[in-house]
Amino acid sequence: ISASRVADTWVKTTCGYCSVGCGMLVGVRDGKAVTVRGNPDHSVNHGKLCPKGQSEHHILTAPGRATQPLLRKKGKLVPVPWDEALDTMVERIGSIQQKYGNNSLGVVGTGQLVTEEVYTLGKLVQLGFRTRNNDGNTTLCMASAVSGYKLSFGSDGPPGSYEDMEAADVVLLIGSNIADNHPILCQRVERSSERTLIVVDPRVTKTAMMADIHLPVKPRSDIALINGIAHILIREGLIDSSYIEQHTTGFEEFAAYVSTFTPQHVAQVTGLNEETILKVALLYGRAKAAFIGWTMGVNHSTQGAVTVTAINNLALITGNIGRAGAAPFSITGQCNAMGTRETGFTSSLPGYRKFEDAAHREDLARIWNIDIERIPTARGLAYPDIIEGAVSGKIKALWFIATNPVVSFPNYSVLEQALRSVEFLVVQDGFHPTPTSDFADLVLPAAIWGEKEGTYTNSERRVGKVNRAVAPPGDARTDFDIFLDLAARIGVREELFPNWKTTHDAFLEWQRVSAGRMCDYSKFTWQQIEDENGAQWGGKRLYEDGIFPTSDGKARLHCVPCDPFVEQPNSEYNFILNTGRTVEHWHTRTKTSQVAMLESMVPNAWLEMNPEDAKRLNLKSHDRVTVTSRRSNVKNLELRITGIVAPGQVFMPFHFSESNSNLVTLGAFDPISREPNFKQCAVRVERSATH
Ligand code: SF4
Repeated sequence: ISASRVADTWVKTTCGYCSVGCGMLVGVRDGKAVTVRGNPDHSVNHGKLCPKGQSEHHILTAPGRATQPLLRKKGKLVPVPWDEALDTMVERIGSIQQKYGNNSLGVVGTGQLVTEEVYTLGKLVQLGFRTRNNDGNTTLCMASAVSGYKLSFGSDGPPGSYEDMEAADVVLLIGSNIADNHPILCQRVERSSERTLIVVDPRVTKTAMMADIHLPVKPRSDIALINGIAHILIREGLIDSSYIEQHTTGFEEFAAYVSTFTPQHVAQVTGLNEETILKVALLYGRAKAAFIGWTMGVNHSTQGAVTVTAINNLALITGNIGRAGAAPFSITGQCNAMGTRETGFTSSLPGYRKFEDAAHREDLARIWNIDIERIPTARGLAYPDIIEGAVSGKIKALWFIATNPVVSFPNYSVLEQALRSVEFLVVQDGFHPTPTSDFADLVLPAAIWGEKEGTYTNSERRVGKVNRAVAPPGDARTDFDIFLDLAARIGVREELFPNWKTTHDAFLEWQRVSAGRMCDYSKFTWQQIEDENGAQWGGKRLYEDGIFPTSDGKARLHCVPCDPFVEQPNSEYNFILNTGRTVEHWHTRTKTSQVAMLESMVPNAWLEMNPEDAKRLNLKSHDRVTVTSRRSNVKNLELRITGIVAPGQVFMPFHFSESNSNLVTLGAFDPISREPNFKQCAVRVERSATH
């Protein structure tokens, strides 16, 4: 270790990248973060970190940090003092709302903030700015899991814990490449004679390579497979009849429905053979404890929410829920995606309360000491509908917080239209320029992970402490400070945030708001989560008693059709494009492109194609190719010829603004969750003319 990396103090915190929520220690020397290491006492990672976590301190001193407020004047973003920046924001948004109504403001938050900031933002936006149109970028990754859980169990909340992956004798991963996306979690399912790992994925991902059985299903045929497994389980008597009887409703209708998903039919739809389908169903059905994990392969679909219910069906009919090793488990994306789900004001009210439930609104009005009429009775626009609203003229001002839709939102041309149509665009971010902040009328420089205090909730509902190791650069301020300052400027600070000074004040109120709810933070203290390396709300497992938060206490079984995906290939657009991620990068690379080690490992996007297709098109490895959909094209991608993808399918990572996969992706959304369908669109591939 070089002398410059020897720390004089170590600050305990939680990783700010993915939802695994690894505990770490940030080494600080002379006020600068010089290194990080895994927290050896943390139950999530036992001292280990993945490459992103291992290099996380570099983002704090990255040259691309936003350090001063910038306001567009005569077409150029120029530095201004905070007072001018925030006064302008309040004045512009105020006059837009006066002219077009309160709901003409759309706000898109993020799973990058600490929970206390998300909670504060929700109150500020809904009760202060009085717009209902507030959502998170989490709708681009987790909304289907939330909706699916609500449909099956009556509430959101992943029911299991990470240790259930190790306790299970069968782990079934569907559309989940944890080796790239949740690397530390991946170690829990390393090969073992005690456990069978089954991976369902059209691609031979790194996770699929680890599996005992890989099921390379045709794109979007997972519902048929899941229904087919349910059919075999019922046929073979491998179901838990007493659990079904006592804790579910809808079994008869469900059993009749899945009876049409015979192995023969499922084999046709999925491209698998009947024996394999039978083998997997029997393994799952005979397991003492079976765990199903899923991520974006399920969620990123126009059928995402109902696919989640199909997964939940399997767990319910076999009683694989609420006990060790048994859970239908959505692995979340961002470090604090769960925090946004809990604190709400997006698809639900804080504490998983329902907008439409008068008693829930009364409850909140009492705690907040406000008139109940101020609490909306229905959710506002979801993220995709906020963008659509900006295009149609309903939304006139947009405020993005720590998110970069130019790279992350599907069908870029519509997004660009939205950004160009609004009268005022605020981008609050720890980095500038980003492809999105380049469009902004106002850029607010924000502190990031390592520079602020609060909590993140990880995928297993573990509330982990996040601590400040260093000061933010230049004039950057924490998102929390920015929100409170705005609250003061619009005259609601004392009413909505009385005497609040720190995120701990927000935590204390959030404890009162969540008390008695499923995500009950009143069961632990700030100090406890610090000292004990986090605490899981709901304990290790939800639904241990088989009682679900529905009107009759029973979970719902759903009949889920397997619809063809929206944009089928044809003779002109003859490939199905799948998009995804790689372990070295995080989302739109705002952070990881600034870390030399990560960037040098994977500096560019690429396109994967099967050798059979490459031969037909007379293409060689490393050729430069253009991918074209009905919407636009991505030029000059390096071709990788590989059996990782099946014939007729191609894959590219979505991280790269220079080769933006969202130029070609489809703007189609799940009707229930509003999550985009990033995983399938029809494209053609040609050699790039520029080569
Ligand atoms: Fe951070 Fe996720 Fe890597 Fe753990 S696995 S170090 S939480 S990025």
